[in-house]
Amino acid sequence: MWVLHSLSPQIIQPSISFLPVKHRPSSSINAQQPRNLITNLQSSTKTSIEITNKNPLIQSLCKKGDLKQALQLLSSEPNPTQQTYEQLILSCSIQKSFPDAFYVHRNLLNNGFDQDPFLATKLIDMYSELECVDYARQVFDKIPRRTIFVWNAILRALTLAGYGIEALGLYREMNRIGVPCDRFTHTYALKACVVTESMTLLLKKGKEIHGRILRHGYETHVHIMTTLLDMYAKFGNVLYASYVFDGMPGKNVVSWSAMIACYAKNERPFEALNLFHEMVHEISEFSPNSVTMVNVVQACTVLAALEQGKLMHCYILRRNLDTILPVTSALIALYARCGKLELAQKIFDQMDKRDVVSWNTLISSYGIHGFGMKAVRIFQEMLNRGIKPTAISFVSVLGACSHAGLADVGKRLFDSMVEQHGISPSVEHYASLVDLLGRANRLYEAAKVIQGMKIEPGPKVWGSLLGSCKIHCNVELAERASTQLFKLEPTNAGNYVLLADIYAEARLWDEVKRVKQLLEAQGLQKVSGRSWIEVRRKIYSFMSVDELNPQIEQIHALLVELSGEMKLQGFFPQTKLVLYDLDEKEKERILLGHSEKLAVGFGLINTSKGETIRITKNLRLCEDCHTMTKFITKFTGREIMVRDVNRIHHFRDGVCSCEDYW
Ligand code: ZN
Ligand code: ZN
Repeated sequence: MWVLHSLSPQIIQPSISFLPVKHRPSSSINAQQPRNLITNLQSSTKTSIEITNKNPLIQSLCKKGDLKQALQLLSSEPNPTQQTYEQLILSCSIQKSFPDAFYVHRNLLNNGFDQDPFLATKLIDMYSELECVDYARQVFDKIPRRTIFVWNAILRALTLAGYGIEALGLYREMNRIGVPCDRFTHTYALKACVVTESMTLLLKKGKEIHGRILRHGYETHVHIMTTLLDMYAKFGNVLYASYVFDGMPGKNVVSWSAMIACYAKNERPFEALNLFHEMVHEISEFSPNSVTMVNVVQACTVLAALEQGKLMHCYILRRNLDTILPVTSALIALYARCGKLELAQKIFDQMDKRDVVSWNTLISSYGIHGFGMKAVRIFQEMLNRGIKPTAISFVSVLGACSHAGLADVGKRLFDSMVEQHGISPSVEHYASLVDLLGRANRLYEAAKVIQGMKIEPGPKVWGSLLGSCKIHCNVELAERASTQLFKLEPTNAGNYVLLADIYAEARLWDEVKRVKQLLEAQGLQKVSGRSWIEVRRKIYSFMSVDELNPQIEQIHALLVELSGEMKLQGFFPQTKLVLYDLDEKEKERILLGHSEKLAVGFGLINTSKGETIRITKNLRLCEDCHTMTKFITKFTGREIMVRDVNRIHHFRDGVCSCEDYW
């Protein structure tokens, strides 16, 4: 990364050694080209008619796109004008020619335009376009009279290049010295917040800018307000985003899409879909674009709302958006995650062209269904077709191996990622590897992987180890992992619960008590379980203790009846999963109130016999619900599909597709 203040104060040195490699002229001949051509021109025009003013000709050559010819003339024009330079700069930007840009810049300085704020603005824009933001910054640093256009140009250049902190530094400077900001200034400052990663600091900064925007009366300006909305969305501040959205008087398609995206990306899929319907039905003047459709399809995917998703698919086909790659990938993910793997494959097969995202999506689709080998084969086919795998490709394929228990295959893929593809493993890759080994009961090998990591393991990796310790009841490693997790995520109740589960399994009751006390002392609560089910295109949501559903009595009665049947056949509720000091009856009651059971009960009552019941759960499916769902499919002859946070469970005739391995 470059550092702004270490740049040489001499702006335009002929030396170009500090240029980013891609902008270095490919050969010295290339760099000399304008000068050689000039010499040629000068010798050949000696006898021809003297053209006194070449400015209009240079400008028209630029407009025609003949930059080379224009540059030849420039060298023999003693008095180039501001307009001439403006056209030349524009032409260099369009043709993305760094050597020519550099030549024009040098020529302009030699002809006394070094302090022209108008041209400085154009130069900053040009260097920004050429992705040479350090040059843009040098132009800015050298200009004594900084008009608002110069300021805005540099803010824009820095923000586009991803230097949010630097842009905000200049914005602060503007406010300090009292430069009157306009709507563009505020927009770029907001975008600077968005491109920067340090969240807390920037949200504060963003709110300050918001205040300033309101004070300056820009709240009716759609573009500024949409940028503001985007910023809050990026920070996950849905409330503020919706506040901005609601207050906008003239919303356009961009603002609607931004708000839908905000909901979809911040785990509010219901709201995203509702807003989409509002946009399409109530505000019919706007037709959603491909970005909006990707977001709404993703919202359907989160909810496993197959029927809603199909409606979106029709909509996409009607608007001819089905050839746009991100839209198609979103549809593949939708069908796969709603349990319709064959439809996902069909869409993939019908694509004219595919990118690496389409392949990654298909690989992870097979992965969550537990078809690990198939996923590995698709990955191999992708390589055979010459498509370069990305870091995400490996996240997908390693995840697939993990769901199918393919420890050795996964380990080999992990090694090939580093050795053959030169991708350095991220936390996600390590977490997958640890999960892979841990589930296969190679826990000490997994612990060794963590020890050898070149990056900080973080909660994901330790969480993978702890999860595996739960499966294989390894108290020693569980303690090691949870010590780290308690440090890294002191408020994540899930970690305490897992450790307590492991102690309970090992019958270390004193330890169970100690962890429970720790949990209670911190005033922590488990993330509440939530399940969704779609019945006749309507989505119903269930919480653990759900008293709102009008059919709740009927659902409870059905579940009690089913659980009675189970006991008759020798299956007893796993009350050890309830970590509270209650009597057995009470524990059973709590287990029967789990959101996924309520959703299953609702599905049994409200769907017809041959229909598959599809449920989505926000957490991992618990063992008791898993056992009971298996039983229900056997007892009632129904098929039930549950997608939990890790994978898809397809229950049929008393067994689950995960083979109890999840
Ligand atoms: Zn449960
Ligand atoms: Zn299962």
